[in-house]
Amino acid sequence: MTRPKAQTPRPSLNRRTLILGSVAAGVLAQPVLARQITATKIPAGGAAGGSAAMPAAPSVTPLAANPAVDAAVAQVSQDRILGSVEALSSFPTRLTEDANFFRVEDWVSDAFIRNGAPPAAIQRQGFVLPNGLSRNNVVVGNSADPRGVIVVGAHFDTYVEPPQTRAPGANDNASGVAVMLEAYRLLSQLPRDKEIVFAAFGGEEQDLLGSTAFVENAQRAGWRIDLMVNLDMLGLAPRNPRDPIVIEYDQGNAVASNNAAAREYGLLAAQLAAVHSTLSTVHTDIWDTDYMPFEAAGYPSIGFYDNGADAPEYHTSNDTMATMDFDRLEQVARIVVATLATTAGVRA
Ligand SMILES: [Zn+2]
Repeated sequence: MTRPKAQTPRPSLNRRTLILGSVAAGVLAQPVLARQITATKIPAGGAAGGSAAMPAAPSVTPLAANPAVDAAVAQVSQDRILGSVEALSSFPTRLTEDANFFRVEDWVSDAFIRNGAPPAAIQRQGFVLPNGLSRNNVVVGNSADPRGVIVVGAHFDTYVEPPQTRAPGANDNASGVAVMLEAYRLLSQLPRDKEIVFAAFGGEEQDLLGSTAFVENAQRAGWRIDLMVNLDMLGLAPRNPRDPIVIEYDQGNAVASNNAAAREYGLLAAQLAAVHSTLSTVHTDIWDTDYMPFEAAGYPSIGFYDNGADAPEYHTSNDTMATMDFDRLEQVARIVVATLATTAGVRA
């Protein structure tokens, strides 16, 4: 997330649009088939407030079985995810202005290589801070693939007040980067109908500088981005184990033409969550992180989020692994891998 809480009050879930309350906590005590979700009339309400009106049943097409998706999801490794969070949160800070920020860029680049990327495939995508310093996103994948591109993004920079103090950013956002790296390991070698581009952004906490630079490149080059999936704060230990994970999708914002597609993708992700994870889900609008410039450029945009901006550790030196639940983060990773694999049409 990009702003201190004091500047950008987190809209409470109660006030925000809750759709598919059906998949909210408690309803899906047992895994159910996606087909049943679309067919089942489910009572309004749920763990996240309970007062939202239940809209008409979603019109998501029932999922077709895909053994390649199942196989990828089955290989999600909590140990690998935890290792990535541990390494990233060991940097004293990942503040984008920090003189050692290049070491974090290098770590992300090396991590893609450890997870199977040819070194020549790593792209450094530059952007400039207001003070004139140059920094880089780290991007892997063919953004110009004419078949269409699914972008999965996660920012690797951190922020605390005051800026010179330790900024481990374990949940914000080593959690998202770790899940993106795990998705890269499991999906990058698979044949697929669309390209998946993995984008680690810097400068998120300075008003989305890295993701804005990515989008400027995309518009200039005419990349065919079918979907942006943002991962920002995924692994906070919930107050109640039954608390849902939030699947955000664009519900308005700058451009109207991408709303319907974003909704379909958001509902699809919730179906996949019911099939491939133990977590319940709720939906909200997108806000305040790296999908915003994508949305403004017209690209359909969704995100995953754990409500971590409401936690006392948010943007403090206490955003450490101790605040996280890695069983839960593994479940989120399963949903993310299933969503990317399904939308990209992976094959065995
Ligand atoms: Zn963040």
